[in-house]
Amino acid sequence: MFDEPLAPFTWLRVGGPAEVIFMPADEADLADFLKGLDPAVSVLPLGVGSNTLVRDGGLDGVIIRLGKPFAAIEPLDGARISAGAACLDAQVARAAAKAGIAGLEFYAGIPGTIGGAVTMNAGCYGAETRDILIEAHGYDRSGNPVTFTDPAAFTYRHGWGAEDGVIVTRVLFQGKPDDPAAVEARMAEITARREQTQPIREKTGGSTFKNPPGHSSWKLIDEAGWRGKLFGGAKFSDLHANFLINTGDATAADLEGLGEAVRSDVKARTGVDLRWEIKRVGKP
Ligand SMILES: Cc1cc2nc3c(=O)[nH]c(=O)nc-3n(C[C@H](O)[C@H](O)[C@H](O)COP(=O)(O)OP(=O)(O)OC[C@H]3O[C@@H](n4cnc5c(N)ncnc54)[C@H](O)[C@@H]3O)c2cc1C
Repeated sequence: MFDEPLAPFTWLRVGGPAEVIFMPADEADLADFLKGLDPAVSVLPLGVGSNTLVRDGGLDGVIIRLGKPFAAIEPLDGARISAGAACLDAQVARAAAKAGIAGLEFYAGIPGTIGGAVTMNAGCYGAETRDILIEAHGYDRSGNPVTFTDPAAFTYRHGWGAEDGVIVTRVLFQGKPDDPAAVEARMAEITARREQTQPIREKTGGSTFKNPPGHSSWKLIDEAGWRGKLFGGAKFSDLHANFLINTGDATAADLEGLGEAVRSDVKARTGVDLRWEIKRVGKP
């Protein structure tokens, strides 16, 4: 696809077009494509865009989107589970529960793909991707297969993926054997808790800023008076003050502009530096 608007591919529903979107048919197709691509062309893998803000000017280069051929889920012996990078986290959580594998319940509440989860070391309620990851496989920018086996190196909302020049294709997780009904009950609790505390039906990007050491970003935003305050078509959620919302007609510039305004205000008031968790990509 050429010159394709990217807004429909992200949760925030903003942003200009991608020069090219490539959807590989399988791993060999992905490897061949990368091998044949001019090294000067930039490549960005995109999951379901639940953590990505595409700027209004769009993106030069190639967006790689993994589809169905990368969405297989296979429970394995020893409470392990293999999942393609295009699987939704919640699908993997459900498959694990059905197979009597505990430990992946937290994925029930994260609306991204497995590729995005490994890249972001996604997590919630005290669990994160590095706790369950055994290894991840992918391809580098030159089309060579690469494997990652050191999840202990993951840090808060930072794992292995796009920023390492890698397109993650498949992942192996380690859980613990448990009763499927008990796992499902814990997943239901997580889902219910999310419904009450997060604006999950809005056009949002999840947590906008990482929590600075010793602080909660939502609290800093709230105390500075930014909760619910409109900035063009953008605002921070009334329900969760660290969730940036497109109220309907926001541009990427509104959303990023609001984020930057909040960052400088919080810095001036408290001296604390808020750092973006949402990935901002493309041209203004
Ligand atoms: C309502 C809501 C609630 C959320 N709650 C949480 C939460 O509790 N905890 C949490 O951690 N996050 C949360 N998020 C943020 C987001 O869901 C996670 O960061 C998720 O892991 C992103 O996955 P994605 O597929 O949407 O990634 P994208 O937004 O598409 O991409 C994110 C990054 O991953 C890279 N990437 C994506 N796929 C690949 C791949 N195959 N190979 C290499 N790089 C790749 C992209 O290049 C980009 O840098 C929430 C978001 C929303 C909208």
